[in-house]
Amino acid sequence: MARQQMMATSRLQTQLYDYFLVLDFEATCRENEHINPQEIIEFPVLKINAKTLETEAIFHQYVQPRVHKELTPFCVKLTGIIQEMVDGQPHLEEVLENFNKWMLDNKLLEPDINILFVTCGDWDLMRMLPQQASYFNIRIPKYFNSWLNIKKAYASVTSSYPKGMMPMLAGLNLKHIGRHHSGIDDCKNIGNILCSLLRRGYIAKVTRSN
Ligand code: AMP
Ligand code: MG
Ligand code: MG
Repeated sequence: MARQQMMATSRLQTQLYDYFLVLDFEATCRENEHINPQEIIEFPVLKINAKTLETEAIFHQYVQPRVHKELTPFCVKLTGIIQEMVDGQPHLEEVLENFNKWMLDNKLLEPDINILFVTCGDWDLMRMLPQQASYFNIRIPKYFNSWLNIKKAYASVTSSYPKGMMPMLAGLNLKHIGRHHSGIDDCKNIGNILCSLLRRGYIAKVTRSN
């Protein structure tokens, strides 16, 4: 019944993309202090079908940092990622290779398939990934070069620019799932925000490119 009601009120438009890839990195950090180099420690991506709005696949790996190998107590408390979750995990190069394989396996790199990365803010793909790649001389695939910032999508639907994920969830009457600042849980919440905006008639587009 709830699903029927939801379908009945959906104003989902035909989208320019076949799949949305919701991505939210977690990275090494310190309280009130910049960390250099900052390194990705959690790499989660949801594959959401633009027609059905179903999550069809999930990529999720923890990543071992090279320089600041010991997570700070602040970082553990913020992200819920404990030392044992990154120790022995692959470094970023290998995770990027695994991710590319996942993209291939999921037919996301076929010439007739259009994909759009979706992030909360521009930090993940404008700063975090390019900065770490540049520091360690890692080549990153071109598909990471453009994305949709969900805050801009929210602003275009509601006419108010949100501070972050939690105010967007509240503004759309969505329940927060899991733990804030867990990358995979943040992806699920960002995915719910995206689907809610799409059901309100939003047509997703690139908001920023590198
Ligand atoms: P988020 O996606 O909002 O969970 O944040 C991504 C990353 O940004 C975190 O893994 C941290 O490295 C950093 N970060 C987020 N909030 C803070 C904060 N209050 N202080 C320091 N770093 C933060
Ligand atoms: Mg984030
Ligand atoms: Mg996060």
